[in-house]
Amino acid sequence: MTVGRFAPSPSGKMHLGNLFSFLLAWCSVRSAGGELVLRMEDLDPQRTSAEFAALIRRDLLRFGLDWDREVPCQSTRTAAYDAAFAKLEQMGLIYPCYCSRAEVHAASAPHLGQSEFVYAGTCRDLTPAQRAARKRAPAWRLRVPDQEWIVRDGLQGDYSELLSRDCGDFVVRRADGVYAYQLAVVVDDAENGVTQVVRGRDLLASAPRQKYLFSLLGKPAPEYIHVPLLMAPDGRRLSKRDGDLDLDTLLGRLTPEEILGALAFAAGLIDRKEAISAKELAAVFDWSRVRREDICLTL
Ligand code: GLU
Repeated sequence: MTVGRFAPSPSGKMHLGNLFSFLLAWCSVRSAGGELVLRMEDLDPQRTSAEFAALIRRDLLRFGLDWDREVPCQSTRTAAYDAAFAKLEQMGLIYPCYCSRAEVHAASAPHLGQSEFVYAGTCRDLTPAQRAARKRAPAWRLRVPDQEWIVRDGLQGDYSELLSRDCGDFVVRRADGVYAYQLAVVVDDAENGVTQVVRGRDLLASAPRQKYLFSLLGKPAPEYIHVPLLMAPDGRRLSKRDGDLDLDTLLGRLTPEEILGALAFAAGLIDRKEAISAKELAAVFDWSRVRREDICLTL
């Protein structure tokens, strides 16, 4: 059975871009008679809140995007992340990193265009004495192999990375103890029995790292389908800043079905831009019609 998921970070309100990915994730699961779980990715206590989580649940339901069960949110899952971390440590794959830019943002998912750098391995082979001489609390990195990892993406085709060259050893736990997105998402997708991950194309580059982690933890990786991003008519990426993504503003002049219809039409799922409910869309849903290129949206 297909098990899909909504995995929002309650660090803000849901916007049109999130809605687009969630709509496709929902239609994919519902049209296959599968199950959908909701998981709040509230790893970082500084940046997320229960208020935003409540608003996200409300907004999903406004558009008819329901879920079958809500699984424990990430802030309650530290023991499971500890266990995975200990396993990787036993495998000799974890080391402390004292570099000052040790990924303050590691807890949040790295989206396209955000600065991510390939770690040079500075702290990879420090001696115990060198480690003891460091004064600051370390972040913890996972060693990556000199090996190509391929993701057969359901929409984007094959995507591969030579982890050592394209990614580098990555942070799995921050210096303040907060686990990084990459580790938490893999532990949770495995625990929740997720078989299909549908999310924005901006997270495609995280997929090889996640497949690597699944293999180390001895769990099967899900199927990945990375969906296009929404662009404004002038070609720039829609952004929260411009307000063109704000759902409350849009709902002031359009019905939920009109918004869904515009998204479905832009995705290539329906032939005319007309109002449609999520249920009606699931009945005609077909991945082979969904565009893979980023989508220009007019509302
Ligand atoms: N929680 C992540 C985000 O909102 C998404 C993670 C995922 O779908 O893997 O950016």
